[in-house]
Amino acid sequence: MRSINDQSCDLLVVGGGLVGLALARAAAHAGLDVLIVDREAPKQAVSNVFDGRVSSIARGSANMLNHLGVWDLIREDAQPIKEIRVTDDGSPFFLHYASRDVGNGPMGYILENRILRRALQAAVEQDPRIAWRTQIEVEEIECGIYGVCAQLSDGSTANSPLVAAADGRDSVLRTKAGINVINRSYGQVGIVCTVAHSLPHGAIAHERFLSAGPFAILPMTGNRSSLVWTERPEVASTILKLGTSDFLGELAWRFGDFLGQLKVVSPRWQYPLELTMAERLIAGRLALVGDAAHAIHPIAGQGLNLGLRDAAALAEVVSNAYQLGMDIGEATVLENYGRWRRFDGLAMAAVTDSLNRLFSNDIVPLREIRSIGLATVNKLPILKAIFQRHAMGVLGHLPKLLQDSAI
Ligand SMILES: Cc1cc2nc3c(=O)[nH]c(=O)nc-3n(C[C@H](O)[C@H](O)[C@H](O)COP(=O)(O)OP(=O)(O)OC[C@H]3O[C@@H](n4cnc5c(N)ncnc54)[C@H](O)[C@@H]3O)c2cc1C
Repeated sequence: MRSINDQSCDLLVVGGGLVGLALARAAAHAGLDVLIVDREAPKQAVSNVFDGRVSSIARGSANMLNHLGVWDLIREDAQPIKEIRVTDDGSPFFLHYASRDVGNGPMGYILENRILRRALQAAVEQDPRIAWRTQIEVEEIECGIYGVCAQLSDGSTANSPLVAAADGRDSVLRTKAGINVINRSYGQVGIVCTVAHSLPHGAIAHERFLSAGPFAILPMTGNRSSLVWTERPEVASTILKLGTSDFLGELAWRFGDFLGQLKVVSPRWQYPLELTMAERLIAGRLALVGDAAHAIHPIAGQGLNLGLRDAAALAEVVSNAYQLGMDIGEATVLENYGRWRRFDGLAMAAVTDSLNRLFSNDIVPLREIRSIGLATVNKLPILKAIFQRHAMGVLGHLPKLLQDSAI
């Protein structure tokens, strides 16, 4: 790691969450000197009480983590996904994805966020091109002709030709740059917890559509699964207050008995679900990545994957300009990034939003439409393979970091 007194860098990354850390590593990999500023303490961010979520890591994202030298640190904790079963409550129709339908290897992996965060932190810490300053926020930011000057909360300043805002859904940098957002609450809360079960899960992920919203059962290493259980806020707050056996009872009738006896082995977490879409991905010498650009419904487990694609694309665009000796913060460079990433973000937001609207209800005509939809997609191998490859993050104009890598 470089000295923390060095306040000049090629790229200032504000926000050292999963996306910010990956971006810093990708940019450093391309030869840029990077400064990350984050308001959290690193130990706090990997503690058991910080984030109870797991993430589905699509194949493309796993390729990226491998290229960045992070995969070896998480390999043993990453549970491969071999099948995905999608069912609609009470409907005989279903959708079934199998990894064997699209070639060798798993469709993706399930990994605890805190384990991925710990691995990214370790990779960043040992990278000589990255300085990482924690428990610090950006107070003011001034964009000049040749670069940006950020006033930090410890009284120091950081200078850089380009700033990446990776500061999450409520991005302060986005607001300071005057970028408006479309923001809508889904009126849903994601209850998250880990269960141990007596039978093996067989590397199968389940997405069940219940009337309150999706109920996802995500296989973890060992006989464990993580749940993302969507409920209306008032129901969620009652469920979260239940004692251990009543909570397990509520969980068990939704989960079923196909994995044998269940035991909740983690705290219970709650995440209010909202859509937040920035109207633009760029401003003067500023690029938005990850949830700062688009925070979407977790129904398809794609938010982090989308953010990692932003990080890989920004690193690629910037590194190409850097190799040519260009100013990496100039408008034409940022426009390349904005054009490249706009469609993916909008498409993913639209798909997740529509799926949630279509499935999170008990309206009879809609139930019939979605049953037909599930059955139709399941019977059309080409359409099914397109959906599958898209979910795996290996479709479309991919940044080089997401392309094949021997994992
Ligand atoms: C219930 C649930 C389940 C999900 N499951 C999946 C899944 O299976 N697969 C998937 O791909 N995605 C999933 N997601 C989405 C995914 O978790 C997010 O998209 C991802 O974590 C966003 O990462 P980020 O780094 O962009 O933002 P964040 O994780 O919000 O990180 C922002 C960082 O910025 C820092 N910060 C904030 N403000 C400031 C400031 N002013 N100054 C300095 N630092 C600042 C914070 O400390 C933090 O470290 C899920 C989301 C939810 C809610």
